[in-house]
Amino acid sequence: MNLLGLLPTDLSALLHAAGVPAPEGDARRVLARLISEGRSDVVPRGGLRRVVVDALAAHSWSRPTVVERVPDSDGGLRYVFQADDGALFDVVRIPLHVSGRYSVCLSSQVGCAMQCAFCATGKLGLTRNLGAAEIIGAFLAVRDELRDAEPESRVTGAVFMGQGEPLHNYDAVLQAAHVLRDPCGGRIASEAISISTVGLVPAIRRFAAERQPFRLILSLTSADPTVRRRLLPVAGRHDLAELAEALSLVHEAQGDRVTLAWVLLGGVNTDPAEVERIRAAFGHLPLRINLIDVNANPVSPGGETSGETFRRATDEERNTFMDALQVLKSPVVRRYSVGRDQNAACGMLAARTAVEPDTASCP
Ligand code: SF4
Repeated sequence: MNLLGLLPTDLSALLHAAGVPAPEGDARRVLARLISEGRSDVVPRGGLRRVVVDALAAHSWSRPTVVERVPDSDGGLRYVFQADDGALFDVVRIPLHVSGRYSVCLSSQVGCAMQCAFCATGKLGLTRNLGAAEIIGAFLAVRDELRDAEPESRVTGAVFMGQGEPLHNYDAVLQAAHVLRDPCGGRIASEAISISTVGLVPAIRRFAAERQPFRLILSLTSADPTVRRRLLPVAGRHDLAELAEALSLVHEAQGDRVTLAWVLLGGVNTDPAEVERIRAAFGHLPLRINLIDVNANPVSPGGETSGETFRRATDEERNTFMDALQVLKSPVVRRYSVGRDQNAACGMLAARTAVEPDTASCP
């Protein structure tokens, strides 16, 4: 097993199952060494009992391999990773508005089953889920390269908005999110970890029932049922009323605003009538709206293009839509669209909002 996807309780249980009683403190020190410190050897300062070292030797803590780095003129840096089986997936490092602070946009799957019309990855179909260890391994590779290049800089946020539908790989994504926030893991604040979804209602309900502490973002993109079904085929499974009910549960569980993401598609979803539809379906909830520019002709890590042609909204279309959104009396933020220069897959979208990391230290 790859240890990078484990929490201290998981590692302690793994060792116990192998007949090696190890206090959870040992597990914390091992994972702090591998994840918080990013070291390549597993023995923490102060050492470990021989029997624990031997038991750990049966496992790995390898990271996926970086095969390409593509800088963006907005300061983003897109990494293409290769997993052990040769599968390719992206991670993007994104500069936040605070100097020296970065967020990392993570993929959750190789390919994607959701087939969104404006997305190259959707054309690939789903190859497989990423494991929590692969997600964390890619995160660590990006974070540690930054540490080496800019020792004063830090990664303070993570967003699951890369390749794949995160809630379609629920267990691994939530496991990775908890490793990211763990004091012995990534040490990212819960509120700085966002998980996006095109609207898998049963998984949203589960997220609420489990009282997950992370920010959930619904990629709405149209509140016209016909248009939404064309853009996001998943909309054929769950209508707006079901989505609103599921998001109400998340709001009740967290007490925070409900975040809606809107990929601006010129001539498609920028009509002010869309705002009235948003108000009719979601107006009873406190909202936060993220506007994201579509990448024209996006290209997946495998080189595929999205097929159907979409264009970015003009300034006039965007401004008209933003003016109309004022009626919702909700925060509206334009988000960073990573990969504009290299036409990266449309999933490469993320926030620039800076959140300071947890200050808790690994005991
Ligand atoms: S936009 Fe996201 S959910 Fe939709 S096909 Fe692309 S990667 Fe999948």
